Amino acid sequence: MTARAVSPDRLSHARKAVAGAGLDALLITPGPDLRWLTGYEALPLERLTCLVLPADGEPFLVAPQLEVPSVEASAVPSLGIEVVGWAETEDAYATAASRLTEPRRVGLANRMWAEQVLRFRDALPGAEQSLASEVLSDLRMRKSPEEVDALRRAGQAIDRVHTRMAEFLRPGLTEREAGREIAAAILAEGHETVDFVIVGSGPNGASPHHEVGDRVLERGDVVVVDIGGTTDEGYCSDCTRMYSLGEPPSLFRDYFSVLHEAQVAACEHARPGVTAESVDAAARAVIAAAGYGENFVHRTGHGIGVETHEEPYIVEGNRTVLEVGMAFSIEPGIYLPGQHGARIEDIVVATDDGIERLNVTDRDVVVLAG
Ligand code: ZN
Ligand code: ZN
Repeated sequence: MTARAVSPDRLSHARKAVAGAGLDALLITPGPDLRWLTGYEALPLERLTCLVLPADGEPFLVAPQLEVPSVEASAVPSLGIEVVGWAETEDAYATAASRLTEPRRVGLANRMWAEQVLRFRDALPGAEQSLASEVLSDLRMRKSPEEVDALRRAGQAIDRVHTRMAEFLRPGLTEREAGREIAAAILAEGHETVDFVIVGSGPNGASPHHEVGDRVLERGDVVVVDIGGTTDEGYCSDCTRMYSLGEPPSLFRDYFSVLHEAQVAACEHARPGVTAESVDAAARAVIAAAGYGENFVHRTGHGIGVETHEEPYIVEGNRTVLEVGMAFSIEPGIYLPGQHGARIEDIVVATDDGIERLNVTDRDVVVLAG
């Protein structure tokens, strides 16, 4: 329940976009949209907390009476949002609905719980429900200079953890044990929360989202380390680097150089004016030409901001044209089931003439003394 200051522009831009999209209101329950709009990080509870942002009229936030002090302590009142507390026996959905004049279309926070969606359907029977992302993803996708600064600080924080990896990856430790130490370092180096820790050693590295298991790290292992957290500014980090305990196998060296080239190709291609899918194609072409097309089993990247995964997705079919301020990962991978795998991931932000990489540690495989 952290109070963070956010620019009031977000609320006013969102309100204009709501009207422009033909929506009558947004209904935003706790989660990334609420954090982005108001800085208020409420616990997601069964009791309804919901920001109501009408196209026409003043925004208000309904919250359980017992949560009102924490709302008052957040940035919500300073943004001109009226706080409407509801008593324990009151129907909060009816309270929210009664202040709207027969809306015909409402946008619901994408991460709203199903039970809340259904209760709003009952409370607003005349309103078609759609997703708030219809208006918010466009706004959230283009980062302001302040947001880019916050992402840069998050990138620096996770880079500091990667530079310490020799402390954590030691033969004889399990992935889980190494992961615990890495998680502690993610906090120590400037994050408020640990969002994920992937330590994929040996054959586990061939499973892109393997987290940690009981496999013991051995000499000769190559290890995928993909880690991220959220800083106290509310922005996420996400970076993958490759390590080996002693010299990696020669087959690994072969495909790792292809992967490295693919990651560079995508970074060189990415700039304002090109589509998201063309960045994916730039990485994929290099990997396919080397005969590893079947081993690159995921999209090239995802947007990042107050959520680790958000728009724009760097994937075939996404014709979104990149613009200055869009922040996303470039993370091609090559996975050989049963053997090992590799991924290189940087967060980048589109600038006037290309991109800036927000992760800058060595992208070659880092050989740790086995
Ligand atoms: Zn990652
Ligand atoms: Zn990622």
